[in-house]
Amino acid sequence: DQVLGYFEQKCQASKRLAEQAATVIPGGIQHNLAFNYPFPLAMSKAEGAHLQDVDGNRYIDFLQAGGPTLLGSNDAVVQEKVIETLRECGPVTGLLHEYEFKLAELVCRHVPSVEMFRMLASGTESVMGAIRLARAYTGKKWVIKIGGAYHGWSDQLVYGMRIPGTGRREAVGIPRGATSHTQESFPNDLAAIRRRLQINRLRGGTAAIIVEPLGPESGTRPAHKDFNANLRKLCDEFGALLIFDEVVSGFRVGLSGAQGYFNVLPDLTIFGKCLTGGYPMAGGIGGRREVMMLLAGGIGGKQTKRAFVGGTLTANPLSCVAGYYSLIEMEKRNAPFLAGRAGDRLTAGLAQIIERRGLPYVVYNQGSVVHLQTSGVLLLNVRNPIQLLREVNPRKHMMEEMGAAYMAHGLVTLAGSRMYTSAADTDAIIDEA
Ligand code: PLP
Repeated sequence: DQVLGYFEQKCQASKRLAEQAATVIPGGIQHNLAFNYPFPLAMSKAEGAHLQDVDGNRYIDFLQAGGPTLLGSNDAVVQEKVIETLRECGPVTGLLHEYEFKLAELVCRHVPSVEMFRMLASGTESVMGAIRLARAYTGKKWVIKIGGAYHGWSDQLVYGMRIPGTGRREAVGIPRGATSHTQESFPNDLAAIRRRLQINRLRGGTAAIIVEPLGPESGTRPAHKDFNANLRKLCDEFGALLIFDEVVSGFRVGLSGAQGYFNVLPDLTIFGKCLTGGYPMAGGIGGRREVMMLLAGGIGGKQTKRAFVGGTLTANPLSCVAGYYSLIEMEKRNAPFLAGRAGDRLTAGLAQIIERRGLPYVVYNQGSVVHLQTSGVLLLNVRNPIQLLREVNPRKHMMEEMGAAYMAHGLVTLAGSRMYTSAADTDAIIDEA
């Protein structure tokens, strides 16, 4: 009641806007992570670690729109460069721009497995492109994803395309054929993945294993220490490409991404989010030259086979300049380290509260990605996924209520269960949180 009272008393302008929005926007919100309970809060200002809603309430931002703003929101240096470029050449020309090259070069310099880089408009698109590329390069057809991971909303990989162990579909409107060459394996179960690779070898072969290197759902089910290295070995043995989905981990866990952290080199890497520091159209594929050149087709080379990707606004000057200066500033300020340190501090503080009050939660972090879960869910995640799925709905709802409670206390989180820290989170801000 206290929480709901907050929304009624302090958020009337948001409420009015949310009611209007719901008349023309399905569900009243558009961003898939937007806060929605008891009604969406509308933001009007963003700066550093803070957001302000249309009623003038201030929040510490641990949602970060799902993770792209590692420097904090609306960084002044990046903003200035974007405005400069906008004044000079507008939002798009469709022709080559200097910052396309500069950003690609910077990505190649930082990310160990990336020899060439192709920008795209989102993580979802980049996943689609990487899979197409893997099939084109290997001539094989199966793709194995590691269970529960969100790789965007394409037909072939959408989250919840099949609820593990139940055969039930959560995502609807996807024809069976679209997922007929996608397989899902549980995280950390190497024996099962090997069996799939062996069976696939007899019927068309495996083009790729795609994995979030921190573990599915940005580490909600963390990967065992050697899991990625073992996937690398399996891919080599069976002639499949290893694709790291670094949409969340890329530049966030370090400028060399999770591949630098785990010291495992994938064939292809998918980027999004931090790539443009929160500016629109964040997506890209990086990888080995030989594989990447299949994107070039007949253009400027001898290649004739082409794995086609495209996009009218892709790699526009504003996204590229935003990406370039975001990465430069992240490097200058050692942003992944600062954000990680804030994540450690937040985790330690939450752990103290959980222990002191005997709450049924577990908190852990991988640098600036902080997970807060009911302890039951975490154990079930690893031990008994079917039971987990039976339990998950009421718990999910509970986490939404938690999310609302945080909001009423001035913290924006990802559904009450995940928090992204940034380089703008000082010790004082974390302690206040
Ligand atoms: N892959 C991962 C690991 C993600 O977390 C997301 C988005 O949250 C995506 C892919 C999809 O990226 P986008 O939202 O840019 O399409």
